Amino acid sequence: MPRKKKAAIIAVANQKGGVAKTTTVASLAAAFAEHGKQVLLIDLDPQASLTFSLGIDPDVVELSTNEVVLGQAEMADALVEASEGIDLLPASIDLAGAEAQLLTRPGREFILQSVIDEVRDDYDVVLLDCSPSLGVLTLAALTAATGLIIPMQAEMLSHRGVGQLLDTVRDVRRLLNKKLKVIGILPTMYDGRSNHSREVLGDLGERYGLPVLTPPIPRTVRFAEAPAIGRSVLDTAGSSKGAQAYREVAEGLLPQL
Ligand code: ADP
Ligand code: MG
Repeated sequence: MPRKKKAAIIAVANQKGGVAKTTTVASLAAAFAEHGKQVLLIDLDPQASLTFSLGIDPDVVELSTNEVVLGQAEMADALVEASEGIDLLPASIDLAGAEAQLLTRPGREFILQSVIDEVRDDYDVVLLDCSPSLGVLTLAALTAATGLIIPMQAEMLSHRGVGQLLDTVRDVRRLLNKKLKVIGILPTMYDGRSNHSREVLGDLGERYGLPVLTPPIPRTVRFAEAPAIGRSVLDTAGSSKGAQAYREVAEGLLPQL
């Protein structure tokens, strides 16, 4: 019998905050799960927005990304089921401390690759929600990843810093992970009525020499409402225009899983 294809590991990163990394991870996860895919999410941000947005209180999780990357807990013991087909390795505030502790650990760039490997066969896709920095955990995410999605707000000012991210990607590819592929830039919070946004969208791919994923994710009020605990974005975002756009992006990615 042919072996099942190894799970794709997709890092969603941009060291700028507020560009919809977390929203992208949660929405793509929901869309992949609708296609029957088994999805693993890893929250790498000490602010734990992904964990929170999936209806899990980061203050009460016992085992989190923190313990797993420090080797104090097994990945399998720390996973929680966020919804049908979607498991989460939750974050807690302690993760900021873990980042500091990892700085003196040998092999720190490989820590996520190694812990994901333990469970990779159980999933079709692993999505890594990076923090807004190019710190140790983001480097570890890029080292573990087979693909990178860069969410970017579809207006000029938010593009500063992308050059730095792409330099980092080049270094990671050269020294740590030859397999890392930039899947593309994902334009988020797009306002199709604004000439400015349309112009920026038009020259985005050319400027960075990267694919631009389509369709762009429209700015919608549904995403701006912070979900309350116990009510996850996976349940609430279902029918919005934004969720629909994410579904189309996810469909475009399915052949790569
Ligand atoms: P990041 O993880 O990059 O910091 P988030 O996903 O947390 O970004 O999004 C930042 C804020 O923007 C959140 O309040 C989120 O609800 C909101 N947001 C995300 N995508 C959209 C969108 N398409 N339209 C409107 N608001 C959005
Ligand atoms: Mg985030």
